[in-house]
Amino acid sequence: MGLNIVQKIIKTHLVEGDMTPGKPIAIRIDQTLTQDATGTMAYLHFEAMGLPKVQTELSVSYVDHNTLQAGGPENANDHLFLQTAAAKFGVYFSKAGNGICHQVHLERFAVPGKTLLGSDSHTPTAGGIGMLAIGAGGMDVALAMAGEPFYLTMPKVVRVNLYGKLRPFVSAKDIILELLRRLTVKGGLGRIFEYGGEGVKYLTVPERATITNMGAELGATTSIFPSDEQTYLFMKAQGREAQWRPLQADPDATYDEVIDIDLSELEPLIACPHMPDNVKKVKEVEGLRVHQVAIGSCTNSSYRDLKTVGEMFKRTGKMVHPMVSAAISPGSKQVLRMMDKEGYYDVFLRAGFRILENACGPCIGMGFAPPSGGVSVRTFNRNFYGRSGTKDAQVYLASPETAAATAMKGVITDPRDLGLDEIKVFLPEKFEIDDSMIYAPAADPDEIEIYKGPTINYVGYKEPLGDKLEGEVLLKVGDNITTDHIIPGGAKILPLRSNIPAISEYVYSVVDETFAQRAKEKGGGFIVGGENYGQGSSREHAAIGPMYLGIKAVIAKSFARIHHANLINFGILPLVFVNKEDYDKIDQGDWLEVDLSNFAPGEDNIITVINRTKGISIPTKHGLNKRQVEIIKAGGVLAYVKQKFEK
Ligand code: SF4
Repeated sequence: MGLNIVQKIIKTHLVEGDMTPGKPIAIRIDQTLTQDATGTMAYLHFEAMGLPKVQTELSVSYVDHNTLQAGGPENANDHLFLQTAAAKFGVYFSKAGNGICHQVHLERFAVPGKTLLGSDSHTPTAGGIGMLAIGAGGMDVALAMAGEPFYLTMPKVVRVNLYGKLRPFVSAKDIILELLRRLTVKGGLGRIFEYGGEGVKYLTVPERATITNMGAELGATTSIFPSDEQTYLFMKAQGREAQWRPLQADPDATYDEVIDIDLSELEPLIACPHMPDNVKKVKEVEGLRVHQVAIGSCTNSSYRDLKTVGEMFKRTGKMVHPMVSAAISPGSKQVLRMMDKEGYYDVFLRAGFRILENACGPCIGMGFAPPSGGVSVRTFNRNFYGRSGTKDAQVYLASPETAAATAMKGVITDPRDLGLDEIKVFLPEKFEIDDSMIYAPAADPDEIEIYKGPTINYVGYKEPLGDKLEGEVLLKVGDNITTDHIIPGGAKILPLRSNIPAISEYVYSVVDETFAQRAKEKGGGFIVGGENYGQGSSREHAAIGPMYLGIKAVIAKSFARIHHANLINFGILPLVFVNKEDYDKIDQGDWLEVDLSNFAPGEDNIITVINRTKGISIPTKHGLNKRQVEIIKAGGVLAYVKQKFEK
């Protein structure tokens, strides 16, 4: 039986499992990428594993998130740490100012048919070149750099059939917005979207990357395009044609689901506040007064996107509307230099755009926040409430074409209404290739001393687990506790991300201000939770903080998947009540003992929790597999891999 593209790549990288959807598999990782906001922790984890060098074919460390924030030295300290750690551990380093990780990776490093694991949720961008590119937590990326496989559940593969041809001023962004409209932000869970069909050949790699980038908003594991003539042309223009290889699904390949999109029927779409799936036709919201337009982010900041905007302003001779503040943040230094070379930089300046740094910038609320209650039209991928930096702003997500037309008119505008002839942007024969801000690893790593400013303070280990856990119930919480409850986000806490003792002071601070203090005084203990404990983001600090405070086990009615994995990674035992009503038999302040003498893998391994205060025994289970049990016994995944390397 023929294979689809996803199966072809997984098959050649499979370490464990058999590609049955829903079953666990492990795959070998060829490349990794990190960005500064998550990378600092990833390299601290890697350093703690004690290996001299990364084991991947290629790893790249990017600085693009926290580049211009005012305040203390935390970000600069992190950047210096990242640069010296990269030099020492055999990692390429892309300096702040070189561009957004996903854009630069696509330009300079991504290779069809390879696997990429990145500590950023938009890592699937590289699927535009035919790579199996997956976003994960910092620890998973550190493990991949150490040569460990990546463990995941085999996703279903969805074939997205693109047929017909896009009409003028309808572009790649409208394709992914159409999918979000149909499937919602949950529609991609447990799935990989594989694009095919005759419409694919009209899309250049940067356009494909817009689609795979925003596949993350569908909740998909990743998205991927074939590697074909378009891929070859892009790689040739990057001077990397030697790395090109063809990659297509077999003619008799099968899929778990199929979706058809007739490109010729699409029209300009826009995601309305405050969700990327709240998609309407631009025509339906046309005329709404706009205060701000932002063009950029890893979704829409390529040569193709900015040149399209430049052409629209050049051909109309229009300026940005006087009541609109408009900014462009190019995806990379390469894109910026191309705009300069072809005269569009001047077009933007004359038109009244502000040119921001080639970095994430306004996408994560780092500057260029909209006015209070203002309307901002952005070419980005997320419009969650408050993400722009202005809590009551109304953020709309649209294509570069719609954003440009809106910037001219001052109201949301369908770009087709400008009456322009079709704009066709072809890839240049050769991009302005300039890798001067990408540093190769040091020739002699022994000469490199890793810089760690006083704001970097790492604690990665727990003691190995004995046969018995005992301590007090330090906190009892209800259902649906989120990782935001466990460790809040925000501007005050974010800079502490590489300072474990400092960030641990905030564990559960929004629920109980005295929690961290109490945990330290009592020498650690237990947490009792309700249903869906740890839902929300993949924030690994929600496990690292409790680990630092000595939390030994969390006993809950059920756990959210990613937090459950994070607890195991950091050596905290997640136990589930066999009888949910036993939740009522434990109170905060009770003294518990957990007998681990028969702790073993499996759904039926029962662990007895003795509540000494109440004089009762409570059965719990964990369902951990062999590897997870070994990780918990070792005191967390760092200690586990270290033991493995020492053997
Ligand atoms: Fe994330 Fe925005 Fe940066 Fe993309 S541009 S990597 S979405 S912060």
